[in-house]
Amino acid sequence: MSLKGRNAVVTGSTSGIGLAVARALAAEGVNLTMNGFGDAADIERTRAGIASASGVTVAYHPADMTKPAEIADLIATAGKTFGSVDILVNNAGIQHVAPVEDFPVDRWDAIIAINLSSAFHTIRAALPGMKQRGWGRLINIASTHGLVASPQKSAYVAAKHGIVGLTKSVAIECADTGVTCNAICPGWVLTPLVQKQIDARAAAAGISARQASDQLVGEKQPQLQFTTPEQIAGLALFLCSPTASNMQGSQLVSDGGWTAQ
Ligand code: NAD
Repeated sequence: MSLKGRNAVVTGSTSGIGLAVARALAAEGVNLTMNGFGDAADIERTRAGIASASGVTVAYHPADMTKPAEIADLIATAGKTFGSVDILVNNAGIQHVAPVEDFPVDRWDAIIAINLSSAFHTIRAALPGMKQRGWGRLINIASTHGLVASPQKSAYVAAKHGIVGLTKSVAIECADTGVTCNAICPGWVLTPLVQKQIDARAAAAGISARQASDQLVGEKQPQLQFTTPEQIAGLALFLCSPTASNMQGSQLVSDGGWTAQ
């Protein structure tokens, strides 16, 4: 597989899964636009570290994924900087856990905006250029929660089911254009997003973080292991490879057996 010289945008790539995807693409010779929140000095260190380790050009754009105008600027700036956006990984995401009747309206709106609507805004901006050039890879980081539900996660489950639907619809529209659109559905991956849920569970039950982590994974996954960010990055690379060129609208699941039950 040669992705050398391709140009990618990875949303939410300052942490966790997005950062692993960014590193993996850069290691294959892909120029990157990173995005996401965090301490400015840390982000700059990470950006420069990836660039020097892989020899590609790495840019950073601070677009807030709740703001359509900033998202449009992210894709336009990446296009201007590198000449094209060939690979788009919609990864930015947040979580909030509460019963539906207590779910704060602002958290609902933020989750739908970041975990679902942002992918509509990036795709609509990036797709015309991909179609014109006859090659593109749209990869949406969904979740097992795009396929099945859990209690207290109404907004997240709605957004992730939504992004699986968006993936299928865009995939059909892309048929025979050289552009593919697919989703990756991870089970538990130990990132800051999940660490918060482990810490909340440990505090509520008065147990150690280790016990809370074992419970969290054990409740859902017969294979009692987290998927790693690097494994998800490997699936993203696979979707960019010629082997996956006939995959359209699929959901690649890595969840330790969660959704097989
Ligand atoms: P994370 O918290 O480590 O990373 C989230 C990233 O999104 C960060 O870079 C953050 O700055 C960015 N982000 C958040 N709000 C943003 C905004 N408004 N604008 C721009 N960037 C924003 O979490 P993660 O676990 O790596 O999650 C990445 C994706 O994977 C999410 O879509 C998540 O739903 C999905 N996912 C995670 C798991 C898991 O177990 N960790 C499982 C399935 C799916």
